[in-house]
Amino acid sequence: MNVAIVGAQWGDEGKGKVVDLYGAKADLIVRYQGGNNAGHTLVVNGKKTVLHLIPSGILHPGKLCLIGNGVVFDPKVFFEEVDELQEAGVFEKDAYLRVQVSARAHVILPYHRELDRLREEQASPGGKIGTTVRGIGPCYEDKIARRGIQVCDLLQPEALRKKLSRAIEEKNTLFQYHFKAPVIELEPLLAEFLKIGERLKPFIHDTRMIITSALQANRPILFEGAQGTLLDIDHGTYPYVTSSNTVSGGAMAGAGVGPQAVSQVIGITKAYTTRVGTGPFPTEIEVTEPEIAQRIRKVGAEFGATTGRPRRVGWLDLVALKYAVELNGLTGIAFMKSDVLQDLECIRVCTSYQLDGNLSPHFPSSLEDLERAKPHYEVLPGWGSFNTQGVKVLSDLPKELCDYMRFVEDYLRIPIVLMSIGPGREETLVLSDPFSLDS
Ligand code: GDP
Repeated sequence: MNVAIVGAQWGDEGKGKVVDLYGAKADLIVRYQGGNNAGHTLVVNGKKTVLHLIPSGILHPGKLCLIGNGVVFDPKVFFEEVDELQEAGVFEKDAYLRVQVSARAHVILPYHRELDRLREEQASPGGKIGTTVRGIGPCYEDKIARRGIQVCDLLQPEALRKKLSRAIEEKNTLFQYHFKAPVIELEPLLAEFLKIGERLKPFIHDTRMIITSALQANRPILFEGAQGTLLDIDHGTYPYVTSSNTVSGGAMAGAGVGPQAVSQVIGITKAYTTRVGTGPFPTEIEVTEPEIAQRIRKVGAEFGATTGRPRRVGWLDLVALKYAVELNGLTGIAFMKSDVLQDLECIRVCTSYQLDGNLSPHFPSSLEDLERAKPHYEVLPGWGSFNTQGVKVLSDLPKELCDYMRFVEDYLRIPIVLMSIGPGREETLVLSDPFSLDS
């Protein structure tokens, strides 16, 4: 039984915690898209670990974590995380026995980061995407333009020289004439990345083959998505999106498996909504209910794990969530951070959008329509000062919170399989186990 987990909103839903929990059930944990623009925060035994690239399942002894071909791979960040985990005593033996990278993954080079930074810095006021300036977008651009550098190239000095010189030719014109920035020198870059290749060698594998063998042996696999559905390059709020397919379909191409490899798809959502960076956000309450927004941000620690940026806050948007159910083929929901809504008098839930005088339950394709869409809310009672900390069974939760859960399930027509009521591993009510469910 294999499970994919995806962010069902704009990212930061708490995927790290769920991957960590489900990682205990899987033999293999596979990241299939994105890069180190993800930031997963894990709290285990009171100790906080933030991972950007290595799958969050790494904290479970003995589990093999794979970075699939669909990921864009920054080797420097990778080794920083390996060293940090090594220091924390996470690896029983050599790190390369626990974490491996696809030979086909594309490498983030310093010029990708530089290009990302210059574009965001020099963009006109309305033109910024709000990227994390980690070079993710420019690396995916080179992949699609067929001038990317793959992990396997770092082991081939002659091929790497040829590919790098071709790759930087056009970049240097951009740096020199468009951005008025220093150009890239081939030789030091080549030497640096050949050296990185030497250290990386034992970590490089045909990860697709490892996954296929695990599938054939019926060993449980967890496919770990990054970012969120509404940031998907095809289906998100384009152009305010990330550069990869964050939806569950991305797991197929980004890990090298067929659709039958994934039997359950769990969408992670918060009990409210947040968004980082620019772009439309119909249920945002920063202007309409600023005190509640600030409260949720403070209690929910809604600041980016990668950038420290404050996240924009709003009510739960069921129109967007239903869209995520359909796009990903979600079979269950992990409902996170409801504890953050404690002490609110009432909870609003958006059930349709008002657009040009009509109510619509559909998420519009056009950004302009989404910008004009006004949320139509149902108002549910809050659960006052009831503190859910320490609750172990659903029946001990306040009735109002259970009613809120049921409302969400009824609207989405899929079950909540996990209820998270705090950042710690133990602050979780597991309602059903996707690894033991039939597809
Ligand atoms: P991810 O990128 O989807 O993994 O999300 P982040 O890790 O950036 O954000 C989730 C944050 O919420 C982390 O700081 C978690 O420790 C925390 N968190 C996860 N689940 C809960 C929860 O149920 N309640 C509270 N209060 N915090 C949670």
